[in-house]
Amino acid sequence: MTCEERKDERDVMVWSQIAARGVRDRRVLEAMRAVPRHLFIPQSYSAEAYDDYPLPIGSGQTISQPYIVAFMAEALALKGSERVLEIGTGSGYQTAVLSLLAQEIYTVERIAVLLERARATLASLKIDNVEFRLGDGFYGWEEEAPFDAIVLSAAPSDIPNAMLRQLADGGRLVAPVGPLGAQTLVRTTRRGAHFDTEALFDVAFVPMRHGVSDI
Ligand code: SAH
Repeated sequence: MTCEERKDERDVMVWSQIAARGVRDRRVLEAMRAVPRHLFIPQSYSAEAYDDYPLPIGSGQTISQPYIVAFMAEALALKGSERVLEIGTGSGYQTAVLSLLAQEIYTVERIAVLLERARATLASLKIDNVEFRLGDGFYGWEEEAPFDAIVLSAAPSDIPNAMLRQLADGGRLVAPVGPLGAQTLVRTTRRGAHFDTEALFDVAFVPMRHGVSDI
């Protein structure tokens, strides 16, 4: 994927918001420079596309703050050969970033209109290593498990068991956990039958919801 449009704004975003806060993984910084965030948000917010905060994307959902996307991608420690499960496609922005960092991305969204828009945006960027599914992410994506990395873009009260089961040995899961106002970003690493969980920092994500909305 190459997009020269608004490249200067992305360069500034990367050094002032992301590298400045300590993200060091070169591949992550490169991916954040490459993905045109302005194509993932409503036209009315276009001027703010590279600003340091989340933005509304419709259906009561938001596109994540660029720094959070970069931080989570770095925390997944991707080298390029992984199969990654993403819960909460939303705009598809983080999906596009991950598509540049791993082999195959499996992304699940419960709101049909968002999923279809994300699918179209990624197709327009000629990203072809992403599988999309309309579904309830609480169940993960059983048929495609195990995954080397799992990332959640909406917060459950606890990490769903289905996801722990679908994590490969040595795999990393990064997720916001807890109720709004008291969420923590955690990273869980699977070592055989053991799961090591570390708290990273406090965050504010939309809550994970049950069921599927086909509008
Ligand atoms: N990283 C995304 C952020 C999207 S916001 C981006 O950059 O645009 C989180 C998304 O999670 C929302 O679209 C919401 O509909 C979705 N979501 C919430 N609960 C879900 C569930 N159980 N299964 C799948 N997606 C879910």
